[in-house]
Amino acid sequence: MSTARTKDDYRKQVYDFLKDIYVVCPACGRQAIVLTPELSAGKKNEQEIKLICAKCGHNKRLDEKPDSVIHTTPYKTMTGKYTIIGGTIDPYFHLPLWFTAKCGDHILWAYNYEHLDFLYGHVEAKLRERNIQEMKNKSLGSRLPKWMTSAKNREMILKALTQLKNKK
Ligand SMILES: [Zn+2]
Repeated sequence: MSTARTKDDYRKQVYDFLKDIYVVCPACGRQAIVLTPELSAGKKNEQEIKLICAKCGHNKRLDEKPDSVIHTTPYKTMTGKYTIIGGTIDPYFHLPLWFTAKCGDHILWAYNYEHLDFLYGHVEAKLRERNIQEMKNKSLGSRLPKWMTSAKNREMILKALTQLKNKK
């Protein structure tokens, strides 16, 4: 997957958007949701993290998901659950995110509607602030990857975000 480029910059702010995560339902391919309880200091309760599809009724708790291989050496294999933050998959079940779109060489992705709005708001703000140099580094938007806020991509990204928001 070509997500490597976006990973680092994205990771800085995605923790704010981990509450509800929209994913592609593994059973029917429509929009499903991963519900997570309030996360505190990286602690999570596996029984409270659930995958629910309102379309086909598929649902699963994280503790029902088989363990993944975390590390293998010739002598032993470590298995368990691991969390992936900052990619085009959800952190827990590792299912493809519902909100992903190809934007030029990059992949635009968001966990939920709030996250889409956040991205939209900041890219749009960059569009308005383009002549105000001093705002650049202070605004939250400076935490976004450069390709998202670069002048030549902004229109394309706003369009893609709007399309994602209306994705059925
Ligand atoms: Zn489903």
